[in-house]
Amino acid sequence: MSFESNGQTDGTSALPAFRRTRRTRRSAGLRRLVRETALSSDDFIYPLFIVPGEGVRHEISSMPGQFQLSLDHLPDEVDELRSLGIGSVLLFGIPAEKDAQATGAFAPDGIVQQAVQTIKAHDPEMVVITDVCACEYTDHGHCGILVNGEVDNDRTLPLLAATAVSHARAGADVVAPSDMMDGRVAAIRQSLDEAGFPSVPVLSYAAKYASAFYGPFREAAESTPAFGDRRSHQMDPANAREAMTEIAIDLDEGADFVIVKPALAYLDIIRQARDRFDVPIIAYNVSGEYAMIKAAARLGWIDERRVTLETLTAIKRAGAGRIITYHAKEAARWLAAEREAAATREPQPSVLAHSGS
Ligand SMILES: [Zn+2]
Repeated sequence: MSFESNGQTDGTSALPAFRRTRRTRRSAGLRRLVRETALSSDDFIYPLFIVPGEGVRHEISSMPGQFQLSLDHLPDEVDELRSLGIGSVLLFGIPAEKDAQATGAFAPDGIVQQAVQTIKAHDPEMVVITDVCACEYTDHGHCGILVNGEVDNDRTLPLLAATAVSHARAGADVVAPSDMMDGRVAAIRQSLDEAGFPSVPVLSYAAKYASAFYGPFREAAESTPAFGDRRSHQMDPANAREAMTEIAIDLDEGADFVIVKPALAYLDIIRQARDRFDVPIIAYNVSGEYAMIKAAARLGWIDERRVTLETLTAIKRAGAGRIITYHAKEAARWLAAEREAAATREPQPSVLAHSGS
């Protein structure tokens, strides 16, 4: 062991040789030089909740900063997203009326179908992804057709396929089935092809867990089940290998890319999926993850900006190609401000300042 090779020139006692990884962290410029994961507004897909009526812009209480919007608000919303560099949206519809057969899900003039048309008419380049499920449209709040109090898998498939086709007909760029019925990707792919939409891709929620992190979303989408829960079709949070099976099946059935949902408590699933499948892996940074940051920030317990960007960076670092996130707009703003700051030659305080532990 050499006691001379350590670069100590100040006469402090001789130390053993060791690697100095701090060298590349000394300044903001050096940290940027060696940064492995960079967030950008291209990474974000922004969810929108569309409600009937006019002039409706109703803040979702458990998701501060997120709104249920009526159709007439969409052009402004899309303009704002565009100005922030966000180029894709994921649509959820809340219909005026619900029934046991979820007929509102596939109605040609359904709420989502109208929203797709409105957005595409205003900004044809905005990528519109539609959530395909029944739970926002059934009066019982379940994700499909009920038989003896249970969601009947095979009877639900035609309903999902019809919904996907109606979204494509309205102009959706991508359909995203979130129901977790077995065989739904095959059924949707076949129906899209037969209806003349062979080039509309299917983004499947392949690894969707029965998660308590969806709580605030249920308020936003008004889709809380009237009884029971979704554990018979959504995945058990304890399982990782099963998620790989779900993804493999969906890709086999014709899914073009897949979603892992939720994101933050499932970074290992995102990483395993990334390592195993050569398709885009999209993470859904869900409502509960968003709400926790918002709540803690309101209490002054965390630095909202830093925690949010750290969270999104972690999801990307884990392997997500894109992130569906309610933070999209504010994150895009913060990232733009950071870029602007980096473009100026303000002294970087980083060598001197500690920023906590
Ligand atoms: Zn559902």
